[in-house]
Amino acid sequence: MSVDCRAVRALVAVGILAAACGGQSGAALGPRPAAASPAAPVSRAPARASRALAPGTARLAVYRARTSVIPAWMWRRMIGVSWHPGCPAGLGQLRLLRLSYWGFDHAVHQGELIVNQSAAKALTRAFGRLFAARYPIRQMRPADAFGGSDERSMLADNTSAFNCRRVRGTPAWSQHAYGLAVDINPFQNPEALSDGAVDPPAAAAWANRSRHSRAMIRHGDAVWRAFISAGWHWGGDWASPKDYQHFSANGR
Ligand SMILES: [Zn+2]
Repeated sequence: MSVDCRAVRALVAVGILAAACGGQSGAALGPRPAAASPAAPVSRAPARASRALAPGTARLAVYRARTSVIPAWMWRRMIGVSWHPGCPAGLGQLRLLRLSYWGFDHAVHQGELIVNQSAAKALTRAFGRLFAARYPIRQMRPADAFGGSDERSMLADNTSAFNCRRVRGTPAWSQHAYGLAVDINPFQNPEALSDGAVDPPAAAAWANRSRHSRAMIRHGDAVWRAFISAGWHWGGDWASPKDYQHFSANGR
């Protein structure tokens, strides 16, 4: 199958990664074992095409990412569900990202993530690195698909960003209300609260971080490096609570 690597390299140049042409471009990021040091540099190893191919999937696995304004039909669906009058970010500040990701089924899917426009480029790049590392994601749908309920979204192991909600038990807006935070595979990466409770409660077993799953996020691993290199911060690095699913632009 022929590959237009010039076009792919052009995408790489703006931060969009394509595994199939990594060997030539030298810019694609390959999977690496987890590094323990927070100072560990982001891997620059070229991704080999063979790593991006799974049995039964298309021969060519290319990361596709598109940023757009929120379509009118989607905005109508969000109003009164994941967005309300008075929310700190409105239609003009939000963008829809359509991103490739590797599913738990080892196939490539397109997900939808609603984010702050100021974060669109950084998140496009970060999810490109997750794609290059073949990090598996269960599903990626906007919060309104779960009635705006964070609990329902977490129980469905849904990766999402924008949702106009408060920090639990406080009047403060969550960083999700600005589209400046992302929760990734929340079931395998729950929040361990200071009182010993786990959110979502059904994922309590996953608060034990000595379990083994490629979906678990650990300090220094490919997911961590993807976001830290974008200048974002991980809730799993907090002293308490530990929010293993949560990455944010400002560390809150
Ligand atoms: Zn979060």
